[in-house]
Amino acid sequence: MISNITADYRARDAAHHLHPFSEMRALNAEGSRVVVRGEGSWIWDSDGRRALDGMSGLWCVNIGHGRREIAAAVTRQMAELSYTNTFFKSTHPPAIALAEKIATLTQPHLSHVFFTGSGSEANDTVVRMVRHYWAERGKPAKQVIISRRNAYHGSTMAGASLGGMKPMHAQGGLPIPGIVHRAQPYWFGEGGEMSPEEFGIAAARDIEAAIEEIGEDNIAAFIAEPIQGAGGVIIPPETYWPEIARILAGREILTVADEVICGFGRTGRWFGSDFFGIRPDLMSIAKGLSSGYLPIGGVVVSSAVAEVLSANEFNHGFTYSAHPVCCAAALENLRILEEERLVDRVAEEIGPYLQRGWRALADHPLVGEARMVGLIGALELVPDKPSRSVAFPDTGKVGTLARDLSIANGLVMRAVRDSLIIAPPFTLSFEEADFLLAAARKTLDDTLDAARRLGLK
Ligand code: PMP
Repeated sequence: MISNITADYRARDAAHHLHPFSEMRALNAEGSRVVVRGEGSWIWDSDGRRALDGMSGLWCVNIGHGRREIAAAVTRQMAELSYTNTFFKSTHPPAIALAEKIATLTQPHLSHVFFTGSGSEANDTVVRMVRHYWAERGKPAKQVIISRRNAYHGSTMAGASLGGMKPMHAQGGLPIPGIVHRAQPYWFGEGGEMSPEEFGIAAARDIEAAIEEIGEDNIAAFIAEPIQGAGGVIIPPETYWPEIARILAGREILTVADEVICGFGRTGRWFGSDFFGIRPDLMSIAKGLSSGYLPIGGVVVSSAVAEVLSANEFNHGFTYSAHPVCCAAALENLRILEEERLVDRVAEEIGPYLQRGWRALADHPLVGEARMVGLIGALELVPDKPSRSVAFPDTGKVGTLARDLSIANGLVMRAVRDSLIIAPPFTLSFEEADFLLAAARKTLDDTLDAARRLGLK
């Protein structure tokens, strides 16, 4: 039963609000969950039901909900200077401090930050920046950006074009010219008879084949998420990134790591690039930079790239580039991550603990693979264990069913096709991890029952 308050919220929401990535007619018929409060790892709906936020919102609330220190830092900054721009020969203390702080956290060669309001804006900036970089170096033909199928790089024109999601390309006339999508290192879904190690090499060699076909003289950059997030938490085989490094070494192609999800500790290292040994020339950042408390993103670039970009004006910028209040929120978030040693906690304590329990879910009859790195993981649901090649007949139906049952069990997980994914806050306690694992197992049991009832299995 829902309360009158919830019914009222839902009716008004349905009347005026278009949600992102939602079938609005079906959603309005069913009614949205109205989330009214968050504290630590938990969120509450308008009927007082609480759920463990296993997705940290959208992979962003890494320090947990409701941190009063961030609210205080934001209040202070708003009172001091709520807004100024960084366009016309001006700057401000929070932007200076944040760029400097980011430079200390990233690999030593990464030294400069261009701020944006989001991850999508960061990746739009990347497209213009890498093409402009090569033009400045006298190589304007270097325009093509190689990306991967099933990548997610945002929803703006260039972000969605860089992404490799066909349903997104189908709306709005995408991709924009000069973006090429090649193999993703998704062993579980596409590895066939190969071992993960063999498949990692093969997926990387497809990027090499693309480079040879297109010609290095025409290529500006290769962009990739260290772990594909929205594509289904695709953790590449161990051979993948070293082979990519071998392929790109000595070639005039910029490496762009989209760290929007992996950045700021999700893997147990500050950046996914550190975890996998990637040496990027540019990194897109957002989400965990402010733990989602306020919208802020950016592109971190190497000194070499910054040097080239510094010669002439780069005709690019956003009103909210380095918004002072967002910078203050990000600085406070980074202070909390460091002082509470939360990245180490992901690497050494709560990460390994949750991983052990998560991998044990692989014994469930519905689970084909249970994978996790740091605090980011997936469960591949399969109709016919142990086969990887047999999919459920109506892709996505079982995944969505499982996602809804999980919420009913008090755990927010997300469905991607027929997999379930999680990325909980770094502050997750051991008791909360136990709750998460028990709720996930119950969800699998409930899903198996429901799938049998509905003839899906
Ligand atoms: N890149 C990646 C890897 C992402 O996961 C996302 C968001 N899920 C984006 C870019 C886009 O970020 P935003 O939604 O802040 O525009």
